[in-house]
Amino acid sequence: MTIPYGRQQIDSDDINAVIEALKSPLITQGPLVTSFEKDVAAYCCARHAVAVNSGTAALHVACLALGLGKGDLVWTTPITFVASANCARYCGAEVDFVDVDSDTGNMSAAALESKLSTACRLPKILIVVHLAGTPADMEKIHALASSRGIKIIEDACHALGARYKDSVTGDCSYCDATVFSFHPVKAITTGEGGMVTTNDHELEKRCRLYASHGVTRDPELMERKPDGDWAYDQIDLGFNYRMPDINAALGISQLKKLDGWIAKRNEYAALYDEALKNLGIGLPAVAKDRLSARHIYVIRVPADRRKKIFDGLRKQGIWCNVHYAPVYRQPYYAAMGYAPLDGAEEYYASAITIPLCPSLEAEEIEFVIQTLKKEISADN
Ligand SMILES: *Cc1c(COP(=O)(O)O)cnc(C)c1O
Repeated sequence: MTIPYGRQQIDSDDINAVIEALKSPLITQGPLVTSFEKDVAAYCCARHAVAVNSGTAALHVACLALGLGKGDLVWTTPITFVASANCARYCGAEVDFVDVDSDTGNMSAAALESKLSTACRLPKILIVVHLAGTPADMEKIHALASSRGIKIIEDACHALGARYKDSVTGDCSYCDATVFSFHPVKAITTGEGGMVTTNDHELEKRCRLYASHGVTRDPELMERKPDGDWAYDQIDLGFNYRMPDINAALGISQLKKLDGWIAKRNEYAALYDEALKNLGIGLPAVAKDRLSARHIYVIRVPADRRKKIFDGLRKQGIWCNVHYAPVYRQPYYAAMGYAPLDGAEEYYASAITIPLCPSLEAEEIEFVIQTLKKEISADN
């Protein structure tokens, strides 16, 4: 038996939705993508949503749409998947990292404030990640960045279904654009897929442009008088990042189940919180003013015992993981020479992600708890 840290859940409604999409005349660029965009926009209380074929593509088009290019700078968090930084590199921009709060692993508003006050160069865009599905402190981060004219992208690839104060993650109350992923390990899946939400109509149009070759048929954007109804203009260099209708069909069906899944994730997280509270390990704290989407459940163990506990869990079929080694440690980034950040190093050294997803049975959660208790108490 192997218990994964996360995996998708596909039921017969999902399968039938995809079969129906396959029978329709348009299997890509059809009506289902538009419906899925409307559903996600409505779910997130955002004005616009643009579907693309991965979370990474969503980050890339959001950066392009905000005008990021060579000579520009992006700041993001080191405790994230590499895609949060790579999107800046795709645009020819440089990347720097803002330290995290070593308790939550989320970008620290205090670290941001001190970096802003000493930086000789300010970023054009700040990319904030809601690690584990728990929203970062967006009110403070937004106040610090927007007062200096810095644009904000929320990388909410972990956080579809999260809430922060009075806002739903994705409503862009504290940012210019929010980005989601529908990779199978995320809250809902389209196979591969992603979405940008925004309240800015111009930004939406630019995201669509870059997701489809830089080509437009929108008379407002076209630069030449059209020769006829067949005409389109390529007005900038874009990509083919479009989501097929087949995938959107799956997304529409999956989204209907999201709230139930978030509730289940929080239910399992509460079981862990209760069962693991007296073991002398760190458990994920979620501030009272937010609802975590509980994408992952990260425990914090003594750094010198992390590897042993990790290996012990894996040996017993518990497919734990570590999210994440700081991005600046990746060879590609390390070659550019970044100084390690204290909060990020502390977080990384002690973190283990234990299995949490709605497709797990309560007995599997119980098995993780019992195994973890044994591993923690063994020869410490
Ligand atoms: C999954 C993920 C991405 C990338 O999404 P893909 O759909 O896999 O391209 C980006 N950022 C974070 C934080 C993620 O977890």
